[in-house]
Amino acid sequence: MTVAEALRAAAERLAVTSDTARLDAEMLMAHALGASRSDLLLRHMRDGVPDGFAGLVERRAAREPVAHILGEQEFYGLTFRVTPATLIPRGDSETIVSAALECASDAQRVLDMGTGSGALLLAFLSECRGAEGIGIDASTDALAVAEVNAGRLGLRAHASFRHASWHDAGWAAGLGRFDLVLCNPPYVELDAALDPDVRLFEPASALFAGPEGLDDYRAIIPQLGGLLSPGGAAVLEIGASQDRAVAGLAESAGFAVTLHRDLAGRPRALVLR
Ligand code: GLN
Repeated sequence: MTVAEALRAAAERLAVTSDTARLDAEMLMAHALGASRSDLLLRHMRDGVPDGFAGLVERRAAREPVAHILGEQEFYGLTFRVTPATLIPRGDSETIVSAALECASDAQRVLDMGTGSGALLLAFLSECRGAEGIGIDASTDALAVAEVNAGRLGLRAHASFRHASWHDAGWAAGLGRFDLVLCNPPYVELDAALDPDVRLFEPASALFAGPEGLDDYRAIIPQLGGLLSPGGAAVLEIGASQDRAVAGLAESAGFAVTLHRDLAGRPRALVLR
């Protein structure tokens, strides 16, 4: 069998469970070949099938995300290491980085609450090298991934990470104030019908936030006043149907709120000032 034939068969097999079956198959094949996807398509289509490709397709057919199988995910044009310890960075979250860059003219100190893989903070710092970033997370396994990503992206001097949970009293002691706070908290409703790829493989602690998905916003928003410098801004990711509820929480806490939409036109980020 050639690579071209194996790709066709794998795409057909994966189409039962994946909306991106052909892309998945190509990414797994490129990984098995140790080639880039463009090299795969330009140079390897008539080659023999590499050892290991069938096993990768089996894992994907069992709903394991491509990002976990490859151990990495592109976000904001950068390659991030990912493991099951963190949420896989999503294209929709690039909206948070863009919104943050818009309000960042002299952002010197940036806090990323629930940094996970470090994607939001490190993408922001890659564009805004004068800033100093701190990422916190309640998971030490996630922090280890963020540290690896800071190193791989050459941002060690700009970013540091600290183990902390916004549910613990005094978690922010000694951190000081920030010009910018970024946060993609858990916001999925407890009984939401999530895709098995997400439900079985991504950390529940990064996804679920009580019956309405609002528990973490309720914990975070009242603390923002004590974290932001005068004139500072917070950029929060929200679920597509949560704009009114979260904006309401923010306005009750005295913030002016601006909504940003993702590329599909859905509500995705709120900027609080
Ligand atoms: N956007 C993610 C999803 O729908 C959820 C991310 C989050 O809870 N912060 O799977």
